[in-house]
Amino acid sequence: MQPSENKKGDGAKAVHGDEAKPGTDQTADGICPDCGGEGQVDGNTCPGCGGTGTVTVIVGDA
Ligand SMILES: [Zn+2]
Repeated sequence: MQPSENKKGDGAKAVHGDEAKPGTDQTADGICPDCGGEGQVDGNTCPGCGGTGTVTVIVGDA
């Protein structure tokens, strides 16, 4: 018997976006998980990255 719980890392947020402000220590630009770096989703500006295709993510210890 396996539990039905299906976690997908931190991708459960309704809205993605920058995890921290640019320039903050232990952060880096990463490809937006919502649009895959395209900056658009279904022809609309990606709500996760604002159309930039990248998001600032924390890469250090949480
Ligand atoms: Zn995006």
